[in-house]
Amino acid sequence: MGLTRRSFFLSVAALGSASVTGTTRREPETEVNVKIWFTEQAANYDVWETLRGHVERAFDPAREGVVVEHGGTVDASSENAYELVTGGEWPTMLAQGSVGGPTAPADDVNLLVTARSMHEFPTGAGIPHVAAVGGAEALADLPPVEDCPEVTGWSNSAYALQVLLHECGHALGLDHEDGYMEPVGEHLVVSPMVSGYPWESKDVREEQFDTDRGTCGCQFVRPDGRDPRLMLTFAECERERIAAYDGGYAPW
Ligand SMILES: [Zn+2]
Repeated sequence: MGLTRRSFFLSVAALGSASVTGTTRREPETEVNVKIWFTEQAANYDVWETLRGHVERAFDPAREGVVVEHGGTVDASSENAYELVTGGEWPTMLAQGSVGGPTAPADDVNLLVTARSMHEFPTGAGIPHVAAVGGAEALADLPPVEDCPEVTGWSNSAYALQVLLHECGHALGLDHEDGYMEPVGEHLVVSPMVSGYPWESKDVREEQFDTDRGTCGCQFVRPDGRDPRLMLTFAECERERIAAYDGGYAPW
């Protein structure tokens, strides 16, 4: 999931510390604008209306500080979301305005959902303003947001949603250490930027998740037999970092 962009994240970290002094912090009413697009295959699944509610809640449980819009259907060359971002196809389509339809890219996050299975890795990627993720079939199984707790046990649909949010977080400048986790009894509650990393192999963790403490101060622990509980909203600390992100440069 995602890319290692050390220098970029260092600059974001600098912004974050500046925000503590109040100099770069956005006003609370500042909206995050997320536009969700679908490949032609992903558009065959009935995802949009339910997903919109979940993404709104994830960014702002009060549903006021976020606007989630439908971008359109995209004629992509594959369903491999990771490749579509890292190989440049999806960012290029956005930058060239060749995504089709009447809508322009969103200022903050342009997320492309594909029909690739979440069992095929990597599942997605996010770079500034641009993200893509698989899992359309799993996302179609999400219950309506009103019927879905904010923290839930592992399921294909909940995992797909959490990874989708994870890639949106990368598109907004967040890294894995900006995530949050908390052991609660037999469970380890994980926020979207942490997601499944605590359960990954040592090699994967060393490459992608090499920290003992989150930037918000929480201890990053090993699962030690605990089962995942997935937060389907961004943790407060993640939301603060999203609010502090000044957007950087968007090529449109
Ligand atoms: Zn990631």
